[in-house]
Amino acid sequence: MRDTDKPALTMAPEMYVHYCEHEGCDKWGGFGRSAARDEPPHWWCWEHFPEEFKIHRPAKAG
Ligand SMILES: [Zn+2]
Repeated sequence: MRDTDKPALTMAPEMYVHYCEHEGCDKWGGFGRSAARDEPPHWWCWEHFPEEFKIHRPAKAG
């Protein structure tokens, strides 16, 4: 087995690159939501992630 025969494990074959779609924002869009099941998801960084999509979690003390 030669090294050149190894698959490149560091590369994701179908990695979908999505950045925050807020205009002028070039951050990584790590938070995605689709408005409907048939709709492709939209992506935002947490800063621009729409408030209505944010899950209200119980605030931790501190
Ligand atoms: Zn953003």
